[in-house]
Amino acid sequence: MPPRIDLRSDTVTQPTPAMREAMARAVVGDDVFGEDPTINQLEALAAEMLGKEAGLLVTSGTQGNLVSLLTHCNRGDEVIMGHDSHTYNSEQVGFAVLGGIAPRIVQNQPDGSLRLADIEAAIMPDNVHFGRSRLVSLENTHNRRGGAYLTPAYTAAVADLAHNHGLSLHIDGARIFNAAVAQDVDVKELARVADSVTFCLSKGLSAPVGSVVVGSSEFIRRARRMRKILGGGMRQAGVIAAAGIVALTEMVDRLAEDHDNARLLAHGLSHLPGVNPEPVHTNIVYFGVDHPRYDAASLQDALAQQGVGMLALSPGRIRAVTHYGIQAGDIEEALDILQALLSG
Ligand SMILES: *Cc1c(COP(=O)(O)O)cnc(C)c1O
Repeated sequence: MPPRIDLRSDTVTQPTPAMREAMARAVVGDDVFGEDPTINQLEALAAEMLGKEAGLLVTSGTQGNLVSLLTHCNRGDEVIMGHDSHTYNSEQVGFAVLGGIAPRIVQNQPDGSLRLADIEAAIMPDNVHFGRSRLVSLENTHNRRGGAYLTPAYTAAVADLAHNHGLSLHIDGARIFNAAVAQDVDVKELARVADSVTFCLSKGLSAPVGSVVVGSSEFIRRARRMRKILGGGMRQAGVIAAAGIVALTEMVDRLAEDHDNARLLAHGLSHLPGVNPEPVHTNIVYFGVDHPRYDAASLQDALAQQGVGMLALSPGRIRAVTHYGIQAGDIEEALDILQALLSG
């Protein structure tokens, strides 16, 4: 049984009643023939919202990043990415395994960014000894950096730098709508300058399945071939896309509630003994555990026994993620349970 108050991830969200309704009514067809009107509608909507020409429904964020990197790069090419990025750490380095693409690692800063000077230094000169630099990959919001977001100005500066050196820019925007809502900017301002963006429908936007890759029409044409070779040609997946359309039309603005609840949680934690919340930027709260009776793992287990789900992602650090289905009252209840454990 999942925990009653499940803050382990925003991937645990249930589809909304409107999503279930839309799924039941979806007009579908064979998408490998390009004949699923609901998928076509979702792809066009996603492209329009992010300021790109075309979109591609994929099975997951992992598949979206993989399709994107395989489409941008040939074997022996290098992708410049952060040492703490999800694509480097949590996707089995599929781009290297399946694509013969090499990561060129740059340190992530506390705000999730890569320094421009570090990116520039990682671009390899044209030399018979070196790999070919082909792509820069950013993450917005940054999962391991507490959901920190990148700004439009920073993203544009990285795009300029990449393009001036003949490289392309990919954004792993699994939570790019959280980044847009937190800064009160149009998501286009974060996406338009990139050559490709992947975002997840199945996290805070609450759809049951799916991610979308957006880019130029030509890029998406080639990405569609790549999705097929990876087994991602999904036939009547308009049933899934229907929920994705509801996610994009009804579930974006409410992400602000998740950000409020994350701040509420961090504020409460700051008054409890033995835990130290890190700065909150969007819907992810990390806190350090330095307590006489608990480390992160045992506190996670004690919380789970009381029906509160959080994840101990390292010996001294726990992550909690707010999302649709979590109310302020749930946060207050989780804080009461934590208070009883930590001061008891
Ligand atoms: C969740 C996540 C992904 C992968 O998405 P899945 O749908 O779980 O494959 C990629 N990047 C980031 C930053 C994520 O948080």
